[in-house]
Amino acid sequence: MTGRGHRIVTFMVVGGATGSPLAAAFSLFGATLPDSLERTLWGRNRNRYHRRLTHWFVPWLALALFCFRRAGWGLPVAAALLDGGEGVLWSCAAFWLMGCVLHILEDACCGTVPFLFPMRRTFGVHLFRMSSRIGEMSGGEVAFTLVAVLLSLAGWVGQGLAL
Ligand SMILES: [Zn+2]
Repeated sequence: MTGRGHRIVTFMVVGGATGSPLAAAFSLFGATLPDSLERTLWGRNRNRYHRRLTHWFVPWLALALFCFRRAGWGLPVAAALLDGGEGVLWSCAAFWLMGCVLHILEDACCGTVPFLFPMRRTFGVHLFRMSSRIGEMSGGEVAFTLVAVLLSLAGWVGQGLAL
């Protein structure tokens, strides 16, 4: 998926699932991190390692669960963040890492990512094709993003804002 698609879908899905704009905002930091990390680690050779180690959900999810546990499984609350409470910082970190987990799930909707082994891409479906132009959203990606946004909006409106 394109970076734009990842950011829109991740923000809306986390917002729709939690009702928390702060959780959605922190998930944005992770929404494109696996791809950025891939570029940083492997640069020009990145095609060889595309969607492999950096797109293995296990370490991202394990770190997210560790942070959620430290946060007492709570949502980040703006007032607590301004007070600099420790729990809210763990919660923000947890949603940052969940952004990475969602990135991988989104990539699994238009290709394959690793499941049990980090260097073997074996998990995923081809719901839509990517555009051949880098950074351009294909018609399928736009449709996928639109459906995710509408479903998330329904969830967000249904539960109201958790500030
Ligand atoms: Zn990716």
